[in-house]
Amino acid sequence: PIILGIESSCDDTSAAVLRGRTLLSNVIASQAVHTAYGGVVPELASRAHEQNIVPVVSEALRRAGVTARDLDAIAFTRGPGLLGSLLVGTNFAKGLSLALDIPMVEVNHLHAHVLAHFIEEPEGEKRDAPEFPFLCLLVSGGNSQIILVRSASDMQIIGQTIDDAAGEAFDKCAKVMGLGYPGGPVVNRLASLGNPKAFPFSKPHIAGYDYSFSGLKTSFLYTLRDELVKNPNFIEERKEDLCASLQHTVIEILMKKLRQAAKDLGIRQVAVAGGVSANTGLREAFADHARRYGWKIFIPPFAYTTDNAAMVAMNGYFSFLEGKRCSLEAVPFARVMM
Ligand code: ATP
Ligand code: FE
Repeated sequence: PIILGIESSCDDTSAAVLRGRTLLSNVIASQAVHTAYGGVVPELASRAHEQNIVPVVSEALRRAGVTARDLDAIAFTRGPGLLGSLLVGTNFAKGLSLALDIPMVEVNHLHAHVLAHFIEEPEGEKRDAPEFPFLCLLVSGGNSQIILVRSASDMQIIGQTIDDAAGEAFDKCAKVMGLGYPGGPVVNRLASLGNPKAFPFSKPHIAGYDYSFSGLKTSFLYTLRDELVKNPNFIEERKEDLCASLQHTVIEILMKKLRQAAKDLGIRQVAVAGGVSANTGLREAFADHARRYGWKIFIPPFAYTTDNAAMVAMNGYFSFLEGKRCSLEAVPFARVMM
């Protein structure tokens, strides 16, 4: 089948076309309007989606070399995300579905992040897709979860954050250092120039496979507060070490629980997904675990780490084959249980 994917859950408007599992196009319009506010402003996001959606979808079809008439189904992100943003993609999908008389398939944004591993490129090196069951560490701006993926439609969250997400920890700490938004990529860049052992930030003691990042955030803030009293230039002088230590601590927290889960469940196929999977330190930690524990690891190409419609179309493909269809009455959901 040829499937159009539409993603509008947060601040990226994206459309993609898949033929089978092969990606024909993936167009993303990121919204610059939020930078000045240090975070995503929901009202501005939905307005920008409205401006972007038509040109983005047209461009995705054009680059794929197909017309709307060639499409077999439309996959769209129904949630979780910002309601106003989700409404734009959902309503657009409904309109197109009616106009073309083709089915709609709803997609859970978090499942889509996980299924990004199954996207195939039309040319270039073939990547192996994970085999079921596998574990996926989903680390993004809003979520940090360990997911047991039994099939494309059977995913169980076995551990998740009880407070902040990993990406949020990066973003919030970056914000107090004045590094802008989103801070994750900036922290990553500065971390490569610093000493990861310079500051021993606190790590949580949580039972099971759950995560917590609020203690780390507090410990980071207290370090800044105490040091700035002694030296007002502390952040400027030590930002590389601060970033390296922050990143190191986040990765240690993430990998410890993932290691435990892999061991307990006897699963050695381990994937990572979501915006934070772009982090080079986390990618190195995965490579290191592959060597040390015989894991077969799956790391998505950078283009499929943060929000994109290719992963939505990929999820749509699996659901379409399973015969799942979505009614025109469907409304977006802001939060979900998987
Ligand atoms: P969700 O998918 O949970 O709804 P989201 O879609 O907002 O959240 P993503 O777009 O998947 O999240 O990821 C964005 C997050 O990834 C941000 O917190 C950003 O700082 C973080 N991020 C991106 N690149 C890096 C990097 N290189 N290192 C660390 N964090 C990064
Ligand atoms: Fe996302």
